[in-house]
Amino acid sequence: MSNSDLQQRKDAVIARGMGNMAPIYVERALNAELWDADGKRYIDFGAGIAVVNTGHCHPKVIAAVKAQLDKVTHTCMTVTPYREAVELAEKLVRIAPGSTPKKAMFVSTGAEAVENAVKIARAYTGRSAIIAFDGGFHGRTNMTMGLTGKVVPYKAGFGPFPNEIYRLPYPNALHGVSEEEALHALQMRFKTDVEPGRVAAIIIEPVQGEGGFYRAPVSFLQSLRKLCSEHGVMLICDEIQSGFARTGKMFAIEYAGIEADIMTMAKGIAGGFPLSAVVGKAEIMDAANPGGLGGTYAGSPIGCAAALAVMDVIEEEQLCQRAVAIGEQMVGHLNTLKAKYPQRIGEVRHLGAMIAVELVQDGNIDKPDAELTKKLSAEAAKRGLILLTCGIRANVIRFLPALTAPFEIIDEGMQLFSDILAEL
Ligand code: PLP
Repeated sequence: MSNSDLQQRKDAVIARGMGNMAPIYVERALNAELWDADGKRYIDFGAGIAVVNTGHCHPKVIAAVKAQLDKVTHTCMTVTPYREAVELAEKLVRIAPGSTPKKAMFVSTGAEAVENAVKIARAYTGRSAIIAFDGGFHGRTNMTMGLTGKVVPYKAGFGPFPNEIYRLPYPNALHGVSEEEALHALQMRFKTDVEPGRVAAIIIEPVQGEGGFYRAPVSFLQSLRKLCSEHGVMLICDEIQSGFARTGKMFAIEYAGIEADIMTMAKGIAGGFPLSAVVGKAEIMDAANPGGLGGTYAGSPIGCAAALAVMDVIEEEQLCQRAVAIGEQMVGHLNTLKAKYPQRIGEVRHLGAMIAVELVQDGNIDKPDAELTKKLSAEAAKRGLILLTCGIRANVIRFLPALTAPFEIIDEGMQLFSDILAEL
């Protein structure tokens, strides 16, 4: 069965809304490589969208899951729990930044983690309004669509969305929003639309993922922390894409030295097994009544067993340090390309191994080249390289390799990227 046969079968039975980037049907995956139904090999610079930080099918993660399959696969955590969930919560509350005692809860996806973070913030504060940022992405459920900025394709036709959601510009100096302007916009919101006493939470990605890998300045995050504390507003940090060593720290907010009231975690947490977590200050996390949080598959034993192995691998293989090294290696290649093609590459930026290039026309950062970006990623897929664009910034290519990727594979993939760019 070839890729094209499978694509035809898929188109006949899977809804159009689940469109795929390329007709590549993966038969096997190992570390930073994939093999498809036609037997073709790919270098994977997407890592399942920042999920397999520990590489595809890491032997330790697979062994932990296999061992768990022989013990228990499901009982429902809110009926008869299991040791793996307790051990994982103990681990997460230890590694979450800040010194306030913490508690955790589990669900299965990133969007569900955000939904629950909002529920908890509302339960604790007794307030309803939520403030989110332009260019933010928080998921595809009703609440998280509401929090997400971009309309097409994420929201078009799917409303109505929950009310009491307010938006702010994300500080992005490259695109004309200074930190001061973003803070001023918040103050104005407080003065005009929503007084702080009505705001349950402000939710922010410390590095916007789908939004284009823009990083909020450290001082902006610190100011936000201060303002939230002053007004009793919960600061929710969405680390679903930036967490688990991806940025060179376990969590990106560590760069700002701040403590969130509530954090959302998913993707890299369990090496490819569906699991997500909300971790926050214990008093806040305990605001919901027993029975108010959870779900049939929330914190599945298989996901928890995988996550415990992932945490070990991150430590044993020093993946924070590796993220920094991979980031420097890739950015070295990309800066060489920028010097060669200053008209086409507007900016190269990164935090650890969250790396992005912004493709432009005439070297002008205000002239995004979405067409070239699309062509590059399509051609890369044909030539054996998986490259992700950004869901919200269509002229940004993001590089999210496995943090375990061998340096030679990174070089090989970057050479391919360079060859393709030269030919387009
Ligand atoms: N939050 C952020 C920052 C994300 O990057 C994503 C997914 O890309 C989500 C939330 C939603 O996660 P999921 O797709 O697992 O629901």
